[in-house]
Amino acid sequence: MGKVCTRCVMDDSDPGVHFDTEGRCDVCARYLEQKELRGYRPVRSDETLKQLVAAMKKAGEGREFDCVLGLSGGVDSSYMAYVAHEHGLRVLAVHVDTGWNSEMAVRNIERVCNGLGYELHTIVMDWPTMKELQRAYMFSGLANLDVPQDHLFCAAVYRFAKEYGVKYLLNGSNLATEGASAPFSAQHSYRDFWEMKSVYRRHGRGKSLQKYIHLNLREAWFGVPGVTKVNLLDYVPYTKTDAIAFLTERFGWEYYGGKHFESRFTKWFQSVYLPRRFGYDKRRYHLTCLVMNGEMTREQALEELARPAYPENEMLEDEAYILKKLDISPEQWADEMRKPPAAEGTYFSQAGLFRLAKKTLGAAGLDRVKSSRVHPMEPSKNE
Ligand SMILES: [Zn+2]
Repeated sequence: MGKVCTRCVMDDSDPGVHFDTEGRCDVCARYLEQKELRGYRPVRSDETLKQLVAAMKKAGEGREFDCVLGLSGGVDSSYMAYVAHEHGLRVLAVHVDTGWNSEMAVRNIERVCNGLGYELHTIVMDWPTMKELQRAYMFSGLANLDVPQDHLFCAAVYRFAKEYGVKYLLNGSNLATEGASAPFSAQHSYRDFWEMKSVYRRHGRGKSLQKYIHLNLREAWFGVPGVTKVNLLDYVPYTKTDAIAFLTERFGWEYYGGKHFESRFTKWFQSVYLPRRFGYDKRRYHLTCLVMNGEMTREQALEELARPAYPENEMLEDEAYILKKLDISPEQWADEMRKPPAAEGTYFSQAGLFRLAKKTLGAAGLDRVKSSRVHPMEPSKNE
């Protein structure tokens, strides 16, 4: 076993993690720094939330909705839907069916929407398009195979915001259970449609991606003009444990057993593909956040990591199901898994442009531009 952080459970299996002289890593250090800066604080956060809600209601005057919210059926988005309802916000609830929903996720979404009286707007992605794009990613040699799902989800929510003229977008990302940023996810942005096209040109089978809903360059970097993103869960006390207990009790919601396991593809990708091909277990990061959020001890997290993410026979079943659904033979897949991962720069991406912007504007300038995407009431790094 490699080097493990003495404060959380990150280890050196992710090359993006660095350790100080006392063996503490920069992931939990960043978590603490961000918690100090923008974590939930009684009174201060309550007051900010009140102002935010008032601003959303004002912007929603004369319109059908105050805000748009993407529902995946997972803990964060489900609980956020409840919080928004509690504050009297008129929510445009959006779901994207990428073809990988677990039955439990579908039931959860229905229960939450029925319980809160939300009408659900669902985009069902054209499966042949989704299939070909997802299939191309399987042969990409990249670590993040979830890009086609994540990008679509984000783009679809933006599309609804534009269509209904909604000015606020509620986002389930939260500091408490997801931390500041994961080293792994920082390496592969899901917002980059240039890279997706590049992957598809090389590994796709030629079907047009015209039906795939995607972000343009401006949306990928700055969001939709006039639409403010709000990480609503950062303004309330939030723990995963309490949220699950509450949702179960209130809506008959069911927990699906792991972070992002509401999608059958993501469950397999995180638990089987990543550890096997990249030696990286995403649970380390998810559990680190729970340790830092005071929901479990470091020892409990280490014990959980020592067990498989879910039963081996179910992993095999999931893999067989996914390969069949994507028209990949077991031999083709075994062959692919023997290849080395894609080297950096294999695909044409927006990363080069990003580096150039950073060089021109400087790191601080770029931070300023990027921070214009989040709600202006959130304290900036300089405060
Ligand atoms: Zn750490």
